[in-house]
Amino acid sequence: MALIVGCAKPTFRTFYKPIIFDDQRKQLSIEYLQVRHGIKQDNAVIKPVMVVLHWTAIPSLEKTFDAFNNPTLPEARKAISTAGTLNVSSQYLIDRDGTIFRLMPDSIFARHVIGLNYCAIGVENVGSESAPLTKKQLLANENLVRYLKTKYPIEYVIGHYEYRQFIGTGLWKESDPNYLTEKTDPGKSFMKRIRNRLKDLNLKGAPEKK
Ligand SMILES: [Zn+2]
Repeated sequence: MALIVGCAKPTFRTFYKPIIFDDQRKQLSIEYLQVRHGIKQDNAVIKPVMVVLHWTAIPSLEKTFDAFNNPTLPEARKAISTAGTLNVSSQYLIDRDGTIFRLMPDSIFARHVIGLNYCAIGVENVGSESAPLTKKQLLANENLVRYLKTKYPIEYVIGHYEYRQFIGTGLWKESDPNYLTEKTDPGKSFMKRIRNRLKDLNLKGAPEKK
């Protein structure tokens, strides 16, 4: 089923390919919001002010969907499971050919970036260090960010590798100061290119490193 997402310009397609969002995932999301981000609420709704761009480091759309689909983390991800058993996911997933899939409503909590999930919409792109993101993905990310900016008061667009620069700012909410991971996605050159294309939106990047 194709959902035509229209904003002033351009119009583009998003396909809805929902991952499981059952009561267990909802409860684990509410728990994560409280325990990790210190936000107590009885639903898993977020108020987005940021879009975080990623690459999957998983070689295909199908395998990425399978990795995100279960509500709980698989055994293999022990390193981050101490911070909660909620599985990782993102609201959007973009294939190599630029097709945009919405995996869950963009106002619902997804675990994709430490310290900032509560205010950030995640956009995953099928790609990796050895398979840099494509021109079609660049265009799709641009369209998607422009659309999200019409829907929410988005102030920031960042690459996942920049997330630690928010430590010490008012936006950073993570209860364990030692819970940090090293990230390189979605690559510096991709962020440079997307920022060039989005210049007119005057979005902020991550604060400068001190
Ligand atoms: Zn990432």
